[in-house]
Amino acid sequence: MKKNILLIHTGGTISMKMDAHGAVLPNEHNPIKDAKDTLSSYANITEVEAFNLPSPHITPVEMLELRNLILAYSAQQPLDGVVITHGTDTLEETAYLLELTTNFDFPIVLTGAMRSANELGADGVYNLVEAVRVACDDLAREKGVLVVMNDEIHQAFNITKTSTSSVNTFQSPQYGPIGLVTKKAIHIQQQPVRRQYVALEHITKRVALLKVYAGMEADLIESVMASGYDGLVLEGLGQGNVPPAVATSILAILDKGIPVVLVSRCFNGIAEGVYGYHGGGRQLEEAGVIFANGINGQKARLKLLIGLHQTTAPTDFKTFFAM
Ligand code: ASP
Repeated sequence: MKKNILLIHTGGTISMKMDAHGAVLPNEHNPIKDAKDTLSSYANITEVEAFNLPSPHITPVEMLELRNLILAYSAQQPLDGVVITHGTDTLEETAYLLELTTNFDFPIVLTGAMRSANELGADGVYNLVEAVRVACDDLAREKGVLVVMNDEIHQAFNITKTSTSSVNTFQSPQYGPIGLVTKKAIHIQQQPVRRQYVALEHITKRVALLKVYAGMEADLIESVMASGYDGLVLEGLGQGNVPPAVATSILAILDKGIPVVLVSRCFNGIAEGVYGYHGGGRQLEEAGVIFANGINGQKARLKLLIGLHQTTAPTDFKTFFAM
């Protein structure tokens, strides 16, 4: 029997075309909607156009709207899976927000394209068909939010955009994909060990994300925090270290009760409090800086944003970020 899939479009290159001057642009008629006939041979599709936005225009407010849309549809009709088409620039952020704010047993699968609908080698319909096939497969259940592109299946927790233009842009540093899509089957070999759920309804607070660099001074952090951010995420150096001036300003921020989360700017590995010198991760950890357990800066920012709004346990950030 065919499965029931909710297909939500949000925009991005997968919904764009290249004009006569070579500019890739959104269209009044979303070209990915023409794929519906192809998709209907795989599943019963309920199609919704939530937005038609380039993904740099997507904010946590739209991400939460998607979450609320899925909740509303799942309450109205039996769903076997959800597929979301999305611009690739911020796809990992939407995937991660949905991962933290939904807890369905059916899969939510995000996909996109690196080439717009009328470009040579356009990958949109191909990726969409694969995403629908994954969403229909029983192996994809209980896996949380997935990203399917270029024959690979990734978890929201690990996925990141690694190339500006390659169709193989999405990768999971350190851990790799959890599965593959072939012509005949869906192959999933791994079960995610962590799933966290926060029943988030609204987002009102603000969290800043800054990258740390050699010779960084305190003024940048101070002026950012002077504009009233509720939390700060830093992409630190190596295992989680910062220059001395940054360390001093972090201590002042913590003194005001504002949470500071540290990730590494390294592509692989996990930041930990190891070094005890001024600005070393161990000193920062002892002072109350939270280490983000392997997620990248943009995801740690969303996690802190969500953590600042949560009202149920665990409300302490150390436990919240340890998972
Ligand atoms: N700039 C585009 C977007 O994120 C890139 C893409 O979709 O691949 O909307």
